[in-house]
Amino acid sequence: MKVTKFGGSSMADAGQYRKVRDILLADPDRKVVVVSAAGKRFSGDHKLTDLLYLCYSHVKYGVDCSPIFDMITSRYLDIQKDLNLNLDLAPELEDLKKRVAAKQVSREELVSRGEYFSAKLMASYLGFRFIDAADWVCFDMDGKVNLEKSYAALQGLMTPGMGAVIPGFYGAMPDGAIHTFSRGGSDITGSLAAAALDAEVYENWTDVSGILMADPRIVDDPLSIPEVTYDELRELSYSGAQVLHEGTIFPVREKNIPLNIRNTNDPDHPGT
Ligand code: ADP
Ligand code: ASP
Ligand code: MG
Repeated sequence: MKVTKFGGSSMADAGQYRKVRDILLADPDRKVVVVSAAGKRFSGDHKLTDLLYLCYSHVKYGVDCSPIFDMITSRYLDIQKDLNLNLDLAPELEDLKKRVAAKQVSREELVSRGEYFSAKLMASYLGFRFIDAADWVCFDMDGKVNLEKSYAALQGLMTPGMGAVIPGFYGAMPDGAIHTFSRGGSDITGSLAAAALDAEVYENWTDVSGILMADPRIVDDPLSIPEVTYDELRELSYSGAQVLHEGTIFPVREKNIPLNIRNTNDPDHPGT
């Protein structure tokens, strides 16, 4: 079984959801899918997670967040409509908007909803089960993931033979409150799922064909590196190559699970 994670750009619109489905259909071992919130569709566009943080700040300082919340709502309802899904997220989004305006939603719960709604839509599109990250990613009081408890919980939630979609980026504190990783943390959720389920490989699907020899936003067309060791990868992420969250490596490394970084927009490229 393979665990796959799709980043924000792979979840940005209905066209990207179709690419994700094609990738999954191409290999029936790709049974577990961890997703990010919708990312940018084009340069100058907004990441859903950024809009959610902005929404929280508006409410905190007493400014009406309706215009921003409506942008969030329409991003998700557009995907739902384009893909002709049976699921209707409108009532849940409406309810969230009311609770946010009434200051009933914590910052972490609010920003986690980007991944939550992505996963709901993707599960409906694929006909996979939705497994909430809050039901298995368990944080201890010190904010560290309790690996043993989390792995056992995910193992217990899986239905053999059935695909599952899991929202990245968050889990739950011992009292049930939503707690998030730092930015880019959906990579960690994917790694935890791979370790919990003893996956054959953890595939991290993004918008570049693996680890590149330079940051492509600075250098034009850098070559991709076919293979790196976990040590080299950790070194690279600590020193700022922002392709993977630095917390991704530990769970898969500990279980000797290979990590394959791939490009959703160029699925035939073997990546790193
Ligand atoms: P995702 O949304 O899929 O998690 P990220 O934006 O977090 O994707 O990470 C992928 C981005 O990392 C690439 O689009 C690229 O701009 C950037 N990046 C920076 N340095 C590197 C590198 N050395 N190799 C690959 N990508 C890099
Ligand atoms: N959506 C979150 C962020 O923008 C987590 C992630 O994409 O990995 O940081
Ligand atoms: Mg990322």
